[in-house]
Amino acid sequence: MRILRLLGAAVRPVRRPTELAEVDGLVIPGGESSVIDKLSRAFGMRDPLRREIAAGLPVYGTCAGLILLADEVLDGLPGQESFGGLDVVVRRNAFGSQLDSFESDLRVEALGGPPVKAVFIRAPVVEKVGRAVDILATLDDGRVVAVEQGNLLGTSFHPEVSDETRFHERLLERVRARLN
Ligand code: GLN
Repeated sequence: MRILRLLGAAVRPVRRPTELAEVDGLVIPGGESSVIDKLSRAFGMRDPLRREIAAGLPVYGTCAGLILLADEVLDGLPGQESFGGLDVVVRRNAFGSQLDSFESDLRVEALGGPPVKAVFIRAPVVEKVGRAVDILATLDDGRVVAVEQGNLLGTSFHPEVSDETRFHERLLERVRARLN
């Protein structure tokens, strides 16, 4: 929310379907994907969200948010579901435990400018991408950590932690394009 405000967007938290209906774009933040999944069902958010995603709502998922945008999730908890939309297979907690959190400088050509200081916190990786998916960033070993498909954007890492604004700016570009 802080980064989006910095970029001049009007921002509000979205926890209920009525709130979802009032926004032109959405960030699904980090956290715990299995909990977000459960709460989204308890609050009647899952199906409205799936509908909005299918209708082209610009959505940016960071970390747990990326897991929730993935069509397929590996190493989820039993019964864990995602909203889907991104034609990717994502593995949860791909780097191990909380202690295996790390930072890495990533070159992201699509964004231009200096490398992205990416902070990975119990992060997922993208293990498989469908044809319509663009890979925006990989680690040095080739593992995919940022993807895009239409109005959906997903990163394994948290750009907001290092005050990186370019991914959120990219989301806002999508929002503006869809409104015009
Ligand atoms: N490990 C978390 C999950 O499975 C994601 C962690 C994060 O969002 N930083 O959802």
